[in-house]
Amino acid sequence: MRVQCFAIRSFGKHRVQDICAITQQVPGVLDEQSGFITLVRGNTTPVASVFVPQTVFVTPKALEYPDTPRMLEAFRRAGSVILRGSPRLQRGLTAAARYARAKTVVVLTVDEKPFFRNCRPSADYELNLVRGCPGMCEYCYLQTAMGSSPYIRISVNVEDILEKAGEICRQKSGAVTFEGSSVSDPVPVERYTKAISRAISFFAKIPNGYLRVVTKFTDVGNFFGLDHRRKTRMRYSLEAQEFHQEFERGVPSLEERLEAARTLAEDGYPIGFVIAPVFLERGLEPYERLLTMIKEAFASGLPEDTTLEFVTHRFTERAKSLILARRPGSRLPMREDDRLFKMGRFGYGKYVYPAEKLAHAKTSMTELVERILPGVRIEYFV
Ligand code: SF4
Repeated sequence: MRVQCFAIRSFGKHRVQDICAITQQVPGVLDEQSGFITLVRGNTTPVASVFVPQTVFVTPKALEYPDTPRMLEAFRRAGSVILRGSPRLQRGLTAAARYARAKTVVVLTVDEKPFFRNCRPSADYELNLVRGCPGMCEYCYLQTAMGSSPYIRISVNVEDILEKAGEICRQKSGAVTFEGSSVSDPVPVERYTKAISRAISFFAKIPNGYLRVVTKFTDVGNFFGLDHRRKTRMRYSLEAQEFHQEFERGVPSLEERLEAARTLAEDGYPIGFVIAPVFLERGLEPYERLLTMIKEAFASGLPEDTTLEFVTHRFTERAKSLILARRPGSRLPMREDDRLFKMGRFGYGKYVYPAEKLAHAKTSMTELVERILPGVRIEYFV
């Protein structure tokens, strides 16, 4: 259910002032189920979506870190309920209810042994400051990665993790890239954590270190005005409009994402677009329209070094059964007979498009990009 911002007053005595602090007097609309407040300009134009978790758990270890009180205060002021200990959900929830409820829960924790997995093709290494995402996209790769209760886990020891990333850079002679969104969309919680902002400032000063962030969210105000030195590439994840309407939930519209990408480009960030997942069942026309939409959003042209990444749809057996348990009747194309079974690098198999179909799509998509967005570099098509 959606209610006007003033109705938030009924949530508790601190709430009015806190929401005003978040929205800075901009009117907002609260989606009670997802915990998102959409800030609106005038009466209808959305300008950003602000995520307010229902509950924030903080582990005893996390309380030992100096940043934790600041984060807790930010969550408290936004209206989240703060609890000590490990997260727990009520018993007896269906898979769908459990999934939806967990997406409104944040856990402040400590990553005691930061580990930087290989992150090809998007970067050299993962940089995991946050795990999870409040979005509810049906096709999401996190459906399996986050288990049955996909809480949003925030590591409060950001400095330790960045220091380790810096060590990796010092050991290498060439450029080293880190992906800040490989197991998360870290942007919805950035206003509370400031973790990506710190990583942006950190990599600005590491000669051979580069950060890459990809998001679907538009609450990007924290990134403006940072001394990023163009060392961080901000990418927006986009889907063709018809698949966005069918499969993406709890995320901003394509128009809002393109507007946010434009403002980040104006702030000097190198930008890019990750088109994912690419569904090939209806040909490439939906993506031709999406590329045109990108072009039209940048009336005076895209910045010179804009990039594109394409990831075609794939699924595992486990993902299919989890998706269908959480969203019975999902119309995601997941017929094994239409796909090729391929062993992945993590030791489990996935269903991908057959090689010939994939090669043909890659050639056709490249031609579309050259025609509609000339000069934009395709980094990979997988
Ligand atoms: S926004 Fe990205 S990470 Fe979040 S649910 Fe959607 S696909 Fe998954």
